Amino acid sequence: MYILVINAGSSSLKYQLFDMTTHDVMAKGLCERIGIGGRLKHNGKAKFEADIDMPDHAAAIKCVIEKLTSPDYGVISDMKEISAVGHRIVHGGEYFTEAKIVDDEVIDLISECSALAPLHNPGSVTGIKACISVMGPSVPQVVVFDTSFHQTMPMRSYIFPIPYKYYEQYKIRRYGFHGTSHRYVAAKAAEMLGKCAKELNIVTCHLGNGSSICAVKGGKSYDTSMGFTPLDGLPMGTRSGSVDPAIVGFIGTAENISAADIVTMLNKESGLLGISGISSDFRDIYTAANEGNKRAQLAIDILAQSIKKYIGAYAAEMGGIDAVVFTAGIGENNAMLREKVISGLEYMGLGIDSKKNNQHSDAFDISSADAEVKSLVIATNEELMIALDTERLVNS
Ligand code: ADP
Repeated sequence: MYILVINAGSSSLKYQLFDMTTHDVMAKGLCERIGIGGRLKHNGKAKFEADIDMPDHAAAIKCVIEKLTSPDYGVISDMKEISAVGHRIVHGGEYFTEAKIVDDEVIDLISECSALAPLHNPGSVTGIKACISVMGPSVPQVVVFDTSFHQTMPMRSYIFPIPYKYYEQYKIRRYGFHGTSHRYVAAKAAEMLGKCAKELNIVTCHLGNGSSICAVKGGKSYDTSMGFTPLDGLPMGTRSGSVDPAIVGFIGTAENISAADIVTMLNKESGLLGISGISSDFRDIYTAANEGNKRAQLAIDILAQSIKKYIGAYAAEMGGIDAVVFTAGIGENNAMLREKVISGLEYMGLGIDSKKNNQHSDAFDISSADAEVKSLVIATNEELMIALDTERLVNS
């Protein structure tokens, strides 16, 4: 079975075609500048890159299908070989607790959630409609949500301590994001530990450009660091993470700028970039810190301490933990940060073996021999998880 996974934004569309027998990616690529020109980057039988007119998402999907079936660049001979399409959707609000096969009601509900994710959901809806129009109604379209994994959180984890009417009126609550990644690495961790996910309490640390931490209790999300929006929680590339909300009012008055402008500053000019003044990219920060830049070092110290605090908090919430998992760009690749986070947590049963910590592979255990709580590094694979969900729903 071949499954196409699509991640559509307002003007871009990423795709991967999976062979579900081997879980191999047969081809992948990116359509950019949809609606304002169009550019396709494709990697299949051979690489292809060129400007191609893409007035809308349907034109972009047509382009993708054409390349996937092209004798020179493609990997299949006919569109009919694609059994189903899995779509990544950022926000499912409180409507979606799991992946779903698309019908009219599903599309309406995703559109309703656009108020909560105005930069993401409208592009996804356009992407789904484009696939239906190009591939026909007989090819199942499946939607997989970043938020749905976190719908198992207890109310005390998701209700903010502000007047309750705002939850009732506007659905302001913690939703959490990166759910597909947390779910994937938590399941992999259980596999690596040879245990059933139901028996385990795991803290999963997704540390990328955007970062979040999740308390996974018995295979389900119990609490998570991102909140109503992906601005909450850890300091990230350019996002502040949690800060004292009174800062918004104070800076607004001091600099005579609007709350919306301050939220933009917290989203785009803060985090690693804001602290270091150098870059939002962890590699640049790491290099600068090694060269003696004090603010780059401070950014790393603040990030590591924040991760450590969440591990402690989530261990307390879940009544102990069995493992900590590091994933995404920083989590998978930076041994120094992992060591900084885990060191000092030996009293909790954690411990790192420096030699193991300096390996590189898709999944490895970095725990010291005497550690009762395991530290694992697992490469996340949200696209494969979406393909697996799609396969399961189509087959059921
Ligand atoms: P996104 O959230 O955009 O998916 P990624 O998961 O790709 O982001 O993570 C991007 C972050 O990972 C960047 O800060 C980047 O510097 C960092 N990163 C990527 N590769 C490495 C590496 N080899 N060593 C340290 N950091 C890395």
